Amino acid sequence: MIVNCPTCKKEIEYSTENVFRPFCCKRCQLIDLGQWANEEHAIPSGANKDAESSMNIDIEDIEALLAQQEKDFFKE
Ligand SMILES: [Zn+2]
Repeated sequence: MIVNCPTCKKEIEYSTENVFRPFCCKRCQLIDLGQWANEEHAIPSGANKDAESSMNIDIEDIEALLAQQEKDFFKE
């Protein structure tokens, strides 16, 4: 089965051998998770100075988030 990567739209094979499915690669998976994380962080918490820095989430933050969320993310 061929699907399009949700991040870059590249066609990939959706197989159990592709650990990043439905993404083409780890980078696209992290980018998608980062967008999701930014939405979570966008909820006003009253700490305005933190809000600005959370908008600039970098790949290391996403990696840490992925480690935390990995079980939920892959529980399908
Ligand atoms: Zn991709």
